[in-house]
Amino acid sequence: MSFENLKIKKTLQRALESEGYITPTPIQAQAIPHLLENRDLIGIAQTGTGKTAAFVLPILQKLSETNKPSKSRAPRVLVLAPTRELAAQIGDSFSTYGQFIRFRYTVVFGGVGQGPQVKALAHGVDVLIATPGRLLDLLDQGHVKLNEVEFFVLDEADRMLDMGFIKDVYRIVPLLPVKRQSLFFSATMSPQIAELARKLLTSPVHVEV
Ligand code: AMP
Repeated sequence: MSFENLKIKKTLQRALESEGYITPTPIQAQAIPHLLENRDLIGIAQTGTGKTAAFVLPILQKLSETNKPSKSRAPRVLVLAPTRELAAQIGDSFSTYGQFIRFRYTVVFGGVGQGPQVKALAHGVDVLIATPGRLLDLLDQGHVKLNEVEFFVLDEADRMLDMGFIKDVYRIVPLLPVKRQSLFFSATMSPQIAELARKLLTSPVHVEV
């Protein structure tokens, strides 16, 4: 199994080679084909399994294959993460895997001044990675709109629940277009997680590693 077999495009393969990644991990091998076929997905996977690349690679591939109207500055991808550390790591993954692709991304999280984040959003981004609380603050102030999001990722959903972000998530989701591709990752499955997934996803593929 190779990234070529998974139909990952050459510009992304080059970035993977530069990182020394030869073989897709099991979550990547299972998830990428479905994601390239526009399916919603629920992935049960721990950190360390390569789950970040499993969603970043197909999202970058699809972003690079479709143009958006040149005047629009609204994000086409929204990734929600429970902590600033995880959000920053996901941002680093977009940067690394997308090094040979033209796109803009920014990471927003609380606990720091919002000035630079507001500026980045005003400049326009294709990919927005956010913790829920800061995203709501920025939304309430009109600094960002989510009406052009095509890909929505909820990462570490179980930690979102544990940390009490679920209300924030339920406030954010209605702001997204109904027609979108949604991805949901959690290390564990519980009735609460299943209910959240049912509300966010449409006919999802289940992948567990
Ligand atoms: P994650 O589960 O997304 O936190 O990723 C765990 C680690 O695996 C990260 O340091 C990645 O850089 C690395 N990684 C992701 N995909 C691969 C791959 N196909 N081969 C080797 N390492 C990888």
